[in-house]
Amino acid sequence: MSKVKKKVKVIKIDVDKCNGCRACEVVCSAFHANPKYSSNNPARSRIRLIREPLRDVYLPVYAGEYAKAECAGRDQYVLDGKEYEECDFCRASCPSRDIFKEPDSGLPLKCDMCEDDPPQEKPLCVQWCINDALTYEEREEEVEEEVKLDDMEVGLESMVDKYGLQKVMDTVARMAKKE
Ligand code: SF4
Ligand code: SF4
Repeated sequence: MSKVKKKVKVIKIDVDKCNGCRACEVVCSAFHANPKYSSNNPARSRIRLIREPLRDVYLPVYAGEYAKAECAGRDQYVLDGKEYEECDFCRASCPSRDIFKEPDSGLPLKCDMCEDDPPQEKPLCVQWCINDALTYEEREEEVEEEVKLDDMEVGLESMVDKYGLQKVMDTVARMAKKE
């Protein structure tokens, strides 16, 4: 496989600076609402706060890749004397929990770094985090060229997993007839 240069976008999370205000969830869900900024339901956000004020746990987590199945095992973390739940650091939309799923359709959500036309200069959650818990960096890396699934393919794949191929094909055929 040939190597290509790739711009890598990184959001650094400083957990100690996060106070759990959830501004990041608000702006992300509003930006991705349809029409844009018409609602701000954090359940639609691509960043979620693991938030337990009594234990002083505030952990921003970004939606990553969709996972078809639950993990076979789990990891437990204790950091600075704080115990985190087994799935707290996980970025996957997976069958074992409700986060990172579009609440109406159940389809997986994934952070797109606010890709849009034109793209955001800085991710919106970074812009809205007044505590500097989130900071943005870009760097260039050499990586192997790969064929990536786009968002529509990931969505279709998860619908096929959920409803079965035949049902999805029947629905698409019905919709095509209506047009
Ligand atoms: S906006 Fe910043 S401080 Fe507020 S919850 Fe999000 S990461 Fe934490
Ligand atoms: S970078 Fe953009 S899409 Fe990703 S979580 Fe932040 S606001 Fe949402």
